[in-house]
Amino acid sequence: MAAEIINGNEIAEEIRRNLREEIDQLKTHYGIVPGLCTVLVGDNPASVSYVTAKNRACEELGMRSFHRHLPAETSEEHLLGLIAELNQSGEVHGILVQLPLPPHISEKRVLEAIDPNKDVDGFHPVNMGRLLIGEEIFPPCTPAGIRELLLRSGTRIDGADVVVVGRSNIVGKPIALMLVQKRSDGNATVTICHTKTRDLAAHTQRADILIVAAGHPRAVTGSMIKPGATVVDVGVNRVGTTESGKAKLVGDVDFESARQIAGKITPVPGGVGPMTITMLLANTVKAAKLSLGLWTPGCNK
Ligand code: NAP
Repeated sequence: MAAEIINGNEIAEEIRRNLREEIDQLKTHYGIVPGLCTVLVGDNPASVSYVTAKNRACEELGMRSFHRHLPAETSEEHLLGLIAELNQSGEVHGILVQLPLPPHISEKRVLEAIDPNKDVDGFHPVNMGRLLIGEEIFPPCTPAGIRELLLRSGTRIDGADVVVVGRSNIVGKPIALMLVQKRSDGNATVTICHTKTRDLAAHTQRADILIVAAGHPRAVTGSMIKPGATVVDVGVNRVGTTESGKAKLVGDVDFESARQIAGKITPVPGGVGPMTITMLLANTVKAAKLSLGLWTPGCNK
C-alpha cells in the first residue's frame, strides 16, 4: 500500500490560523503588533524571491513587515550599523538577514551581531547553544518545521529510532539535537549520517523516522527505507523545467520507490518547504511575546 502523504501546505495553514489568532490577541490585549525586518544585501534573484515571500507572509497574518534592501557593495561596517539600529527598535521583534551575503562581508560577524532575542532564524551561537542544552528559544525554522510535520502527522517521536542524513548547521545537526532532547516532543534515539558514513543504507534501513537533508536528488531510494517508516524529505533540487516552463523540483528521496515502502512521506514540493516560512512567523510572534515578558525560555509555547 502506498504511503500516506504528509501535506505540508495543510499543516502550515493550520499553524498560520493559530498564529493569526495569537497575533489578534497580542494586538487587542497588549497593543503590540509582532514585526519582522528582513535585510537583503545585493540582488540575488533567489534571495529576492525568498524575502518577498517572507514579507508577504507576515502581512497576510497581520504582522508588521519591514524590509531593508542594501546594494551589493554595502560595507560590513554599514550592515553592522543597521543591525545595531534594528536591535534597538521597539517595532522590530525579529531580524532576518538573508543569506548568502556578498563575499566581502563576514556572515559569522553579521549573524553574531543580531540580538539573540530577535534572532528568529535561530542561527546565533547563543541560540544554537540554548538548543543544545534543551532551552531553545528560536529553533531554526526548517528543523522546527520538520518537528511540527512529525507531531501533527501523528508520528511517534518518543522512543523512535531516527536517522538524519546530513549534518549541516541549518538542518541536519539542529533537527538531530531537537529530537534527542529529554522532552515529550523528543526522546528519540538519533543517528546522524554524512558523506563519510560507511554504509548509509545499513543506517537508513533501521530508521523509524528518516530525515533526508543531503542536497542530492535520489540520495535515498525505496530499498534503503524500513517498511512503514516516516520519511521526511528536506531536499530541494531543481532538475530541468516543467511543461509550463517552471523549474521542476525534486527532493533528496526517490519519491516513487520510497512511497511504496514508507508508512508516511513528505512530498517535494508541498512538504517541508511551506513549513519553513511558517516557523519563521511563529518565531517572530514568540519574539514579540518575549519582548513583553509573556513567554520565557524553556516554555515551548
Ligand atoms: P548542505 O549544507 O549541503 O549539507 C548536506 C549534508 O548532507 C552534508 O552534511 C553532507 O555530508 C551530507 N550528504 C550529502 N550527500 C550525502 C550522501 N550521499 N550520503 C550521506 N550524506 C550526504 O545542505 P543543507 O543546507 O543541509 O540542505 C540540504 C537540502 O535541504 C538541500 O537540498 C536544500 O536545498 C534543502 N533545504 C530545504 C529547505 C526548505 O525549506 N525546504 C531549507 C533548507 C535546506 P558532509 O558534511 O560529509 O559533506
